[in-house]
Amino acid sequence: MNADHYAVLGNPVAHSRSPFIHAAFAQQTDQPITYGRIECALDGFAAAARTFAASGGRGCNVTLPFKFEAPRLARHCSDRARLAGAANFLRFDSDGWYADNTDGAGLVHDIEQGAGVPLAGRRVLLVGAGGAGAGVLGPVLEAAPMEVVVANRTLPRAQALVQSHAALAAQRGVRLRASDLQTPGRGFDVLLNATASSLQGHAAPVPAAVLTPGTLAVDLMYGPAAEPFLAWARQHGAVARDGLGMLVEQAAEAFALWRGVHPKTAPVLLALRAVMAAETAAGLR
Ligand code: NAP
Repeated sequence: MNADHYAVLGNPVAHSRSPFIHAAFAQQTDQPITYGRIECALDGFAAAARTFAASGGRGCNVTLPFKFEAPRLARHCSDRARLAGAANFLRFDSDGWYADNTDGAGLVHDIEQGAGVPLAGRRVLLVGAGGAGAGVLGPVLEAAPMEVVVANRTLPRAQALVQSHAALAAQRGVRLRASDLQTPGRGFDVLLNATASSLQGHAAPVPAAVLTPGTLAVDLMYGPAAEPFLAWARQHGAVARDGLGMLVEQAAEAFALWRGVHPKTAPVLLALRAVMAAETAAGLR
């Protein structure tokens, strides 16, 4: 059987774990696909996506810095991608491309099933209002927490995100407000670090008072870059979790949208952690 072709498009993209994850899903579900990486010029995302589709590609994942550009290429857009204004998923359907955003569903699944923490009734602090923050806010609100505070270094970005999600928050009965990084509030049940601060070697973008013993503190980042944040969270009594579970869950959601079959994520997450631990031990990452 001929394989269908998929890829992740971004810049940079060499570090992406998506080819490993999708190859594992394909093997597990017996789906004939290939999955590669395409590094796009910073002004060349649309052209690269069209070239890939014209050469037989069936769809792609989209990563930094093109998530805000991706929905504009699509004729059809899921409600969650429209609300986020950002997409990490394209499917090249014959009646026009379809854009979606699976980041938030992946994160909520990892928190509720992976970490075993239902979001309903909780107080959640979401730090970051970039592509990841925008992508996860809608699905987090859908899970009906009691309160969500969106804190960001550039306050107007947090305010804009809160504004665009106000109707959904009201519909779900969630208190939603924006904050700066210095005074977001105290003692949250769940802290989500959706900033790029870990990449710059900072442990935490917010004061430790946001934590309380038992807070679930998730860094959407993973690998060695996430370690300072995770260590900071543990040091203050929180339960620390990296973003690798979310990465695998958002990929599973994408795989199901392309292939109509939902793969099992737990064995793939285990295998990926083992590969990354071996790379770290060998000094490769
Ligand atoms: P982005 O669109 O570039 O946004 C970056 C965010 O980080 C903005 O809110 C920015 O604030 C903030 N920021 C940057 N440097 C900071 C600092 N030193 N202190 C405080 N805030 C800072 O990036 P993104 O797409 O949202 O990605 C954010 C993180 O999520 C990345 O680490 C990415 O790897 C991770 N991610 C993980 C997954 C997963 O599956 N696990 C999926 C998506 C993203 P300003 O608005 O003030 O610039």
